[in-house]
Amino acid sequence: MQEFGENIQQVHNEKLGRHLVAAINIEPGDTILEERPLLVAPHWECHQLKCAQCLQESYVMCRRCQVFPLCMDCSQHDEFDCEFFTSGAGKAICKDILVKNYGICGLLKLLLLLENSDTRADCQMLIDMPINLDEYRDGEGMWQEHEEQVVRPIMQSGFLDVLSNQQLSSDELHAHCIRIDSNSFEVTARDGDTLKGVFVCGASLPHHCVPNTVVALDEQFNMKLYAAVPLQPGDIIYNSYTNPLMGTSQRQHQLRLSRRFECTCSRCLDPTEMGTHMSSMKCRECEGYSVCEIDSNGRLGDWRCPNCNALLTAAEVHELQAEVGSALVEARGDLQVYEALLNQYGPLLHPNHFMLLDIKQNIASILRAAALMNSMEQPCKKLLARRVELCSDLLPVCRAVVPGISKLYAIGLFEYLLALVELVELQFAESDLDKKEYVAHLRTASMVAKEAIELLRFEPENSAEGYLSDRISMELERIESDLKKYGR
Ligand SMILES: [Zn+2]
Ligand SMILES: [Zn+2]
Ligand SMILES: [Zn+2]
Ligand SMILES: [Zn+2]
Repeated sequence: MQEFGENIQQVHNEKLGRHLVAAINIEPGDTILEERPLLVAPHWECHQLKCAQCLQESYVMCRRCQVFPLCMDCSQHDEFDCEFFTSGAGKAICKDILVKNYGICGLLKLLLLLENSDTRADCQMLIDMPINLDEYRDGEGMWQEHEEQVVRPIMQSGFLDVLSNQQLSSDELHAHCIRIDSNSFEVTARDGDTLKGVFVCGASLPHHCVPNTVVALDEQFNMKLYAAVPLQPGDIIYNSYTNPLMGTSQRQHQLRLSRRFECTCSRCLDPTEMGTHMSSMKCRECEGYSVCEIDSNGRLGDWRCPNCNALLTAAEVHELQAEVGSALVEARGDLQVYEALLNQYGPLLHPNHFMLLDIKQNIASILRAAALMNSMEQPCKKLLARRVELCSDLLPVCRAVVPGISKLYAIGLFEYLLALVELVELQFAESDLDKKEYVAHLRTASMVAKEAIELLRFEPENSAEGYLSDRISMELERIESDLKKYGR
């Protein structure tokens, strides 16, 4: 199922349990781990049937077993699963078990893998994972969702009665659901829908908010993990399970919910968040910025200004964050409202504050969509220039929070590139720029494109990032040909 490279080895310690470390010097881009998913399944709440083979939307069922959906392009799915419901123990089960309760799909698949003596061993690492159910029982949302979408329907379907190798209680089903959730990455089907891919090894790597690896997923849902930065023998192989553009309080909240884990990584202990100040507030007394006081266990305290020592209590900061949070929900994609929010809250926060970045990303994507649909009356130069400005504001932060090879930074560069080229082409066409100025901008654009392509070099060809890289190469060709034309 998974293949370790010779460049890593598995070790064990008290704090992290079984984990991987570099065995030799590893260069950025070097593959560390390749793994096929144990299973790929729709999210629990998904009701759109997906082909059991390729996971694209499907409206017809497998003609043989009549239980699993199968699309027009796929003629068969997993032999054991099909057989189980055609002439095996599952024959007696009502054929509409999945149609009626599509949410059970992922768990049903896992139970079939466990039932099949050929695949049972592949699941061992997953089911060996201890789960303390009392931490989840009656907790926020997750337990209830599993109970309603998966556990109760599967118990009522009679499916458990036909599994001869497993005796399962509802608690054990809950534990399996949690194992699936905590060992999955979001993967994208060819039709663009997102699914859960369970990767027993890849998804069990310890978390660090500044990961030293990159996860690549191709269209067949195969995972490749490669080094983002140079690794030395003994370096722990880390992955990240949070969004790097979130501030520390947000990331920690997410990790608590999804992984029952208190992060004390170097970024979480650094009040400046690697110099980005993504959680810093404008001091109310002087021109400085207040940073969060963090104890050695990673617990966040009040905000204090290092210049004048003025205090901003955690309660005040949280209140402001909640206020901006609900204003963002209220904004509902309205450009003017977002710009007004920037004006209103900008003076209270560090320019790199994660909430301002969030607002800026929203504005940039509205402007991008508008440009794509050509819905701006005349592509107004002011709005194009605004988009360039916002994309360029995001770049240094993207660069700082994911060092080394970074898809986040590559995508940031791509967005900036598109915005810049669109603006300068229009400015040149309308003679706002002379030939020399235009060429200077094109040179910048060419450098940006090359840097982005370089960062995406290790991504599989048949992946979203692979296609993005092709797209940037086309853009680069266009830029280079204009440079040839005007450059002399
Ligand atoms: Zn299919
Ligand atoms: Zn079938
Ligand atoms: Zn952290
Ligand atoms: Zn101050």
